[in-house]
Amino acid sequence: MTKSDDNNGQKSAKHNATMQKRKEKIDANIKRTDEERGVAILLTGNGKGKSSSAFGMAIRSLGYGYKVGIVQFIKGKQLSGEELFIREKHPEVYFHQMATGFTWDTQDRDSDIAAAEATWAHAEKLLQDDSYHLVILDELTYMLSYKYLDEERVLSALRNRPAEQSVVVTGRGGGSALRDLVDTVSEIQDIKHAFRAGVKARKGVDY
Ligand code: ATP
Ligand code: MG
Repeated sequence: MTKSDDNNGQKSAKHNATMQKRKEKIDANIKRTDEERGVAILLTGNGKGKSSSAFGMAIRSLGYGYKVGIVQFIKGKQLSGEELFIREKHPEVYFHQMATGFTWDTQDRDSDIAAAEATWAHAEKLLQDDSYHLVILDELTYMLSYKYLDEERVLSALRNRPAEQSVVVTGRGGGSALRDLVDTVSEIQDIKHAFRAGVKARKGVDY
């Protein structure tokens, strides 16, 4: 056996021991979880990946044949791949997009509020319907940041949703009360983004 073989052997034994310890820890953590219920998730932060992660969970749920409802609180000017996919390939998904009003271009507060409330009515309906396994409220946080929707009304609908239903809220900010209410918060950090290096938003990746 060469010295390098010996070294590799030691490294491999050390690696195995580390992995074994990690597995024991994970197994113990899994054992500790004893609650079976839907969860509320907030995907926030300045980095890219909030809405696309939410849509990833929609795919997961659909894979099991669960019912999914999606409400989008900001209508982008750009049609998105996820919208096309759902409208054309998965018409069984409840999909509602804010019809008019708030976009990054509008400045009319009254019409923004009216649009936010009309859109919220769809969300509220889904949050009361226990046939929905997963509800996605995409870009909802902005409606709270701009005070277009009453915070307590939104929080109480989230809190009182059916026990088996999971809900995903996306968007920057949203306030500390929302963070406190949800079970999981992931903050996506903006380390760098191609857009700032002059790369155009990419079809099928950014929209
Ligand atoms: P995605 O839909 O790609 O998951 P997101 O939901 O995290 O992104 P939004 O703020 O909703 O982010 O913006 C959606 C669009 O803006 C996407 O085209 C995304 O690539 C782009 N975008 C997101 N974050 C940034 C950023 N930090 N800088 C530049 N563009 C961004
Ligand atoms: Mg988004």
